[in-house]
Amino acid sequence: MMDLDAIRKTLESRLAELMSEAKEIDTELRERLDPDVEERAIELEDDEVLEGLGNAAVAEIGHIRLALRRIEDGAYGDCTNCGDKINEARLEALPHATLCMKCAQ
Ligand SMILES: [Zn+2]
Repeated sequence: MMDLDAIRKTLESRLAELMSEAKEIDTELRERLDPDVEERAIELEDDEVLEGLGNAAVAEIGHIRLALRRIEDGAYGDCTNCGDKINEARLEALPHATLCMKCAQ
């Protein structure tokens, strides 16, 4: 039996890591554009912040969010494509996997 609580924590901390990376990049970009950052210190929407991140990181964030939603729905570990159970070893290596090995290929 998978420890969903532990998996959720792993996913959440990875997500937080990626989001803070995104915010850092975003802040840098802003500072470069306009040194007077303080005045336009607007709380950004999460997705707006993501613009500075690479596609791979953005895709990972999407997968993590999907995986977290599926934990909530009780569907974690089921392939989103064919509905088969995803191999547990695969989930251990890649906790945000939402496709089984067959469908991921
Ligand atoms: Zn599948």
